[in-house]
Amino acid sequence: MNLSYWEKESFFRNIDVAIIGSGIVGLSAAIRLKELSPKLEIMILERGSLPIGASTRNAGFACFGSMTELLDDLKIHSEDIVFSLVEKRWKGLLRLRNRVGDTNLKYKEKGGFELFRKEDVLDFQICVDQIDFFNKKFNSIIGQREVYKIASKRILDFGFEKIEHLIHNQAEGQIHTGEMMKTLLAIAQEKGVKILNGVSIKNLNDVEDGVELDTAEGWNLKFKKVLVATNGFYKTLIDHGDVIPARNQVIITKPLQNNPIEGTFHYDKGYFYFRNIDNRILLGGGRNLAKKEEETSEFGTTKIIQNALSELLKNVILPKQKFEIESTWSGILGVGQTKKPIVRSISKNISVAVRLGGMGVAIGSLVGEEGAELIFREI
Ligand SMILES: Cc1cc2nc3c(=O)[nH]c(=O)nc-3n(C[C@H](O)[C@H](O)[C@H](O)COP(=O)(O)OP(=O)(O)OC[C@H]3O[C@@H](n4cnc5c(N)ncnc54)[C@H](O)[C@@H]3O)c2cc1C
Repeated sequence: MNLSYWEKESFFRNIDVAIIGSGIVGLSAAIRLKELSPKLEIMILERGSLPIGASTRNAGFACFGSMTELLDDLKIHSEDIVFSLVEKRWKGLLRLRNRVGDTNLKYKEKGGFELFRKEDVLDFQICVDQIDFFNKKFNSIIGQREVYKIASKRILDFGFEKIEHLIHNQAEGQIHTGEMMKTLLAIAQEKGVKILNGVSIKNLNDVEDGVELDTAEGWNLKFKKVLVATNGFYKTLIDHGDVIPARNQVIITKPLQNNPIEGTFHYDKGYFYFRNIDNRILLGGGRNLAKKEEETSEFGTTKIIQNALSELLKNVILPKQKFEIESTWSGILGVGQTKKPIVRSISKNISVAVRLGGMGVAIGSLVGEEGAELIFREI
């Protein structure tokens, strides 16, 4: 179906930058471009009626790395790379909190905990040996002393079973993911960013003085500059680049009679994660149980992972009370060989800001801004 003259003139003329994807990255990029130059005409093209990818479907951890996760990263990357990424996550969280506001975010600094089972005792011992080193590093990055502390005494308070040790991270927080995205959308719109939902881009082609986009409706749109912010769906649009889709499944309980946990929790080296929210427990992860099957950009849930999540709730997190699962969902991450996001120009007029991994709440604001600044330099 062709666009009418009126549609072309009134909706698509004189757009300076089109951004594909309205997740945290696309929205942060659009807001930043408007901050850099309010006169720029910015349009976000989003295929969903909501920005359905990862940004509205995550667990809302305001985190920057559990000890075992960072120790694993240090096995393959230099200290510089690992801790500069930690710094970026921390600064990204500060930017998000500043932009959206702690009240809108429902930000709570309740701390985070890493759980260790009997079979994780060696890992726990390595963490204990490294805790001073990490605390010194973190003090220099975030200005807090003793960020990590051994907190195994709290296992009884939380009522966990089959857990031998806990490490507490005092600087970890939690947000309300839905409120974050609602506010970011409102800020973008308030600044005059045009957001079109239900527009799925199928193709993008460099042309002489801009970029042509083909949509699923058969429209052919032309813009001067394009930023691709589609993260886990990147490969459905561009067939090169190290961005692998990774589905993550989540469950949430009905309200509990007595919710013994408060904070954000990492289990099995972060492959599982859970938190309290509105007197419920939200639990997700387990993609290591079916790694190949979960390398997909299709939403959905599977028995093997849903069972593992339920069993974890029943046997470890809530062993002393009955609970019901209210609902389940999935979201799509973009991961790769390294955890460093990709922000770069792939041609004269097309730039990309993708591969946010599992900490896009933390880094998404800065990755979006970097994408915006890359484009702004070329306008
Ligand atoms: C279950 C889950 C739990 C997570 N938990 C946390 C957490 O606790 N803390 C944390 O920091 N991070 C977490 N993350 C990661 C974080 O949510 C992501 O890194 C971040 O949201 C990525 O943002 P984005 O804007 O890059 O991508 P997305 O939010 O995925 O946005 C991409 C958008 O592009 C749109 N799109 C895709 N293709 C097209 C197309 N062809 N045309 C038009 N539009 C298109 C999609 O509809 C989508 O809205 C989690 C992720 C998941 C899935």
